Amino acid sequence: MQTLSVLGATGSIGLNTLDVVRSNPSLFNVFALTGHAQVEKLAELCIEFAPSYAVVMSQKAASQLKPLIAHLDVEVLIGVEGLEYVASHAAVDTVMAAIVGAAGLKPCLAAAQAGKRILLANKESLVMAGQLFIEQVKLNNATLLPVDSEHNAIFQSLPLDYQQDYLHKSISDFGVSSIILTGSGGPFRDTPLQELASKTPAQAVAHPNWSMGQKISVDSATMMNKGLEFIEACYLFSVAPEFIEVLIHPQSVIHSMVRYQDGSVLAQMGQPDMRTPIAHTMGFPERLSTKVQPYDFVTGGDFSFSQPCEARYPNLYLAKQAFKQGQETTTVLNAANEVNVAAFLNNQIGFTEISQLNQLALETYQPHKATCIEAILSIDTEARHTANQLIAQHRRVN
Ligand code: NAD
Ligand code: MG
Repeated sequence: MQTLSVLGATGSIGLNTLDVVRSNPSLFNVFALTGHAQVEKLAELCIEFAPSYAVVMSQKAASQLKPLIAHLDVEVLIGVEGLEYVASHAAVDTVMAAIVGAAGLKPCLAAAQAGKRILLANKESLVMAGQLFIEQVKLNNATLLPVDSEHNAIFQSLPLDYQQDYLHKSISDFGVSSIILTGSGGPFRDTPLQELASKTPAQAVAHPNWSMGQKISVDSATMMNKGLEFIEACYLFSVAPEFIEVLIHPQSVIHSMVRYQDGSVLAQMGQPDMRTPIAHTMGFPERLSTKVQPYDFVTGGDFSFSQPCEARYPNLYLAKQAFKQGQETTTVLNAANEVNVAAFLNNQIGFTEISQLNQLALETYQPHKATCIEAILSIDTEARHTANQLIAQHRRVN
């Protein structure tokens, strides 16, 4: 029986995690559920899973939640301190880190410092503070298992010997020659380039294969998601950028691959359903059952592959360049991208302006070296400020 805190329980990954719990009720005891503002959803989940704690981010949300669950023995906590508390509590074995964006960093770090088993969906933790975060995981003997489907696929395609304690090992000692990160190319893969500028938020979030939160769906359309995943892979598997190939695979059945020196390529495949990688991390090294339908190769259609081109996906290339500058620069890019994606979703800027304004933010704000999380978070704050100013300037001119 594992005792589990689900951070970001009301989101897409959080709900899929709880569905895996539903399929394996004797294996998990839910200790805490957290959400930002979807109080009713969180109340429903509390009623179903009876956690000891529920965490929301404001006093207002807490006072809305409390009457809905007054009949239960659930303590309601508020804010980042509440998230850190349930991520590091002595009773907790496993933390599902599924908050979206920079807000996930501090609770992830608290889980690492408390030596927890961390199931990492929040890729932003690695993008912002890859070095510092991994250092803390190692120092405190925490376990880090990748939930992101590509990294989970890569992990599954590596030998068991490597998987055990992998942060202390080098994949080149296991005959690996490269990692192939696959991505669908998003909903605008075949859209004529000159039409991209007029794409709307509704069109951008309609992902062809995966059902996900809004922010990551827009990131899939610009391939910033693949850029963030590129950075995530460099930190998780401790490899140089040259070690990673990015390929477009529109069907999203091969979730990523590993090439070996003898010419072998191992892939992990399956339905594009996050319950598979989530269940893999929840059960590791055992396999859990899920409600995911088996992939049918006969009706599933052909697989195809192509190279992502820079003119269509400038964000992917910005991310690769930023990685070479270090975690301070990737923090700036991540912050600017969060601000610009939110502005796009609010119809304040156009689709192609997301990457243009990301690039401008990187050129405008050059961060100092950061040696602690507080310094990373202050770069994040300043970069958001810069990004907001650039949007305001841009809107005055256009
Ligand atoms: P989502 O928007 O559906 O859910 C986000 C969750 O975080 C919600 O529970 C929300 O209440 C909470 N949250 C949002 N802002 C918060 C804040 N400021 N403070 C505290 N909590 C906050 O997002 P998602 O699609 O589930 O993605 C979650 C994470 O998993 C992201 O980092 C994403 O990149 C990653 N991820 C998602 C998928 C996917 O298929 N959805 C796949 C791979 C990785
Ligand atoms: Mg992914």
